[in-house]
Amino acid sequence: MPHFVEVILPLSLAKTFTYRISEAEFKYIQPGMRLAVPFGKNKLYTALAIELHQSEPHLYEAKEIHQILDEEPIVNEIQIAHWQWIASYYMCAIGDVYRTAMPSALLLESETVILRKDGTFDASVFSDDEYLVYEAIQRATSIRVSEVMSILNKKNVFPILHQLIAKNVLTLQEEVSEIYKPKLVRYVRLHPEFQNPDNLAELLDILKSAQKQKELVLAYFQLFATERRPITVKQLLEASGATPAIVKALIDKEIFEEYHLQHDRVNFDGKLEERELVLSAAQQSAFDDINVSFDSKEVTLLHGVTASGKTEIYIKLIEQHLASGKQILYLLPEIALTTQLVERLTAYFGNKVAVFHSKYSNNERVEVWRQVLANSEKAQIVIGARSAMFLPFSDLGLVIVDEEHEQTFKQQDPAPRYHARDAAIVLANAHQAKALLGSATPSIETYYNAVSGKYGLVEITERYGKVLMPDIELVDLKDKYFRKKMSGHFSDTLLEYMQEALSLGEQVILFQNRRGYSPVVECMTCGHVPQCRQCDVSLTYHKHKGQLRCHYCGYSIANPVQCHNCSSKELTTKGFGTEQIQQELMELLPKYKIGRMDQDTTKGKFGFEKILDSFAGREIDVLVGTQMLAKGLDFANVSLVGIMNADNMLYHPDFRAFERSYQMMTQVAGRSGRSEKRGKVVIQTYNPNHNTIQQVTNNDYLGMYKEQLYERQIYKYPPYFRLIRITLRHRDYEKVKDGAMWLYQVLSQNLSLPVLGPEEPAIARIRNEYIRTIMIKIPQNQPLQGTKKTIRKILDSFEVIAQFRPIKSSVNVDFY
Ligand code: ADP
Ligand code: ZN
Ligand code: ZN
Repeated sequence: MPHFVEVILPLSLAKTFTYRISEAEFKYIQPGMRLAVPFGKNKLYTALAIELHQSEPHLYEAKEIHQILDEEPIVNEIQIAHWQWIASYYMCAIGDVYRTAMPSALLLESETVILRKDGTFDASVFSDDEYLVYEAIQRATSIRVSEVMSILNKKNVFPILHQLIAKNVLTLQEEVSEIYKPKLVRYVRLHPEFQNPDNLAELLDILKSAQKQKELVLAYFQLFATERRPITVKQLLEASGATPAIVKALIDKEIFEEYHLQHDRVNFDGKLEERELVLSAAQQSAFDDINVSFDSKEVTLLHGVTASGKTEIYIKLIEQHLASGKQILYLLPEIALTTQLVERLTAYFGNKVAVFHSKYSNNERVEVWRQVLANSEKAQIVIGARSAMFLPFSDLGLVIVDEEHEQTFKQQDPAPRYHARDAAIVLANAHQAKALLGSATPSIETYYNAVSGKYGLVEITERYGKVLMPDIELVDLKDKYFRKKMSGHFSDTLLEYMQEALSLGEQVILFQNRRGYSPVVECMTCGHVPQCRQCDVSLTYHKHKGQLRCHYCGYSIANPVQCHNCSSKELTTKGFGTEQIQQELMELLPKYKIGRMDQDTTKGKFGFEKILDSFAGREIDVLVGTQMLAKGLDFANVSLVGIMNADNMLYHPDFRAFERSYQMMTQVAGRSGRSEKRGKVVIQTYNPNHNTIQQVTNNDYLGMYKEQLYERQIYKYPPYFRLIRITLRHRDYEKVKDGAMWLYQVLSQNLSLPVLGPEEPAIARIRNEYIRTIMIKIPQNQPLQGTKKTIRKILDSFEVIAQFRPIKSSVNVDFY
């Protein structure tokens, strides 16, 4: 009898493939081991074994595998089943899930490009083959895996490359384009000149008339004498009671020197939090209710207002599940948020916390993968963005999805277009673990599931420490413009509150949602607005760089000096973004330091950390930012939040626009007044009477929920209907148009369901490809499997029609 192994290939292929193996291999291989297999013309891939069997494939001749890469499975059966569920539910290829799930260093293939890492290595520890590769790459800087095969004159090179990657000699090329921004911690030391004790007298003399600075320097000496290691700015401030301004003055005088060290991985050597975490009465009763709810429900929603102290409740729950030896997964919507959270969690759990996300380097991702695989204590608690749920957990006890309403949990492109919250619930089920969803502004779907009894529901309606919910004041922009009470984009009301807060030493956050409301350059003579060459959008003006840029494809041109259309030199900017707000403020409030947080300022290395650190360190007085600000940040000294313009969020052509506006505004408002003093929020709007804005002002989540639920029912949207959106794209306008019409007709004839479209989306061309979409609505009570099968069949027949074959199609289940 021949022997076979069924494998998943890391390619966009829906099927698994069968390879021939020997009897010995049949006995050795286990599902979850990686195999190097040939596929296509002379290419080698890292496939995943999922099943051993003896049935020959009848459509093709089974090839032989090349090599077994693992001695033990590195993927477990729960994962394989979970990935298959994702592929089936989200209608994508199992190969896409496999490729997304695994760190790419575990998926070498013959086309992978390998780079040299800087540094010197002790070549004497290399094996002969390792040395040959090492030598080759010294000359070439980059090399393809297939070239390594010819250098070594053999095909079994993956293990050698794995070794060299583990030794940090090599890395994969993609890493270069996805540099992770590690956590940087600020340190101070004496300027080299003053490190010499002979100059001490001179130093004290310089500071003769600056008593506070002198005290701080003395405090530094004392701290350094006891600690005998580098001193962080934070430590120094705590030990001396000085203000950041004094540290800054000493840095400016070149007495202190600041430097940053990387704390990018959890390597906790500090003291564990000694003070025991004591929950408030409201927190304690929520904690108890969650446990009661877990007795009968797999999933529970914790709906707690902003600053109610949800994180502390998570910490207590984690403690409880740690004690039972189980693994814990903590999902966050955004990598940027991990820093604050990791600090809070490591203070309690020390080295048991591991962080995992796609922006980590290959080595780090592989390391966490191996720790989780070994069920190591070091990774008993895993914090991460959506991809963390693909780790090889074998014994999950608790899954926390924080800020569950965030749309970033849904992957848009490429496939798998999965919703991490929903997929994590399925994963928790497979482990018989409990899932806790947390939010101050739950998504309509989740709240509906909670109210209807599918999920448990626990609510906290007060802030920790009985801090009052912020006081929200609406400013009518129409009236302010009419009465000429505006300076730039600032109403007199907002400016007055800002001046008051700042004069008390408090900090301010200003929110400007730039999405859909970007600054553009417009010709005052002919009205021409420069457009992207490849996409149907206007180019966005970036003053700082003197550029116009496309936010969809990255295309950019220098800021024009005259109109491309009529050559007029009278150009003006329209719309406003964070950059313009920052500029205006610098003129309006010259005394204060204005920071900005958006995609542009956080792009550079360490950008995000630096801004957050200096805001937390009170070196920035006003922070202007986009929706990045809305996500769970906790700053104690912020007493005022301003929303520059609420309207552009409200009028998005999207059935979730009001829900999202409510969430965004409530979350941003929630950054204000998080400790002691009651916070203030100013919302500038042309529509102060709009229902959603009223709901935000009155903290009326239930009102928002009921109104939206009503609309969703009437217009056939979630949670009453599931949405599947099909997108077609191609460079030929007519082809997409015809293809979309064909598909629409066949779908509506074969499904007795509402099928909408084919529609040209708001941005109908991106990177020179024309786009059409079709939306299918499936009632909640209708079985999905059958409908998906029909859709799949229709798509398959679409793809074999010669004239439509070149059209790219993609399917988005539970479209967000
Ligand atoms: P949420 O996530 O609900 O918005 P946080 O967990 O960030 O709220 O809590 C808000 C603030 O209150 C934080 O600064 C947190 O440290 C503090 N806090 C909450 N609960 C406690 C507690 N039991 N003991 C001490 N501080 C707490
Ligand atoms: Zn013009
Ligand atoms: Zn473009």
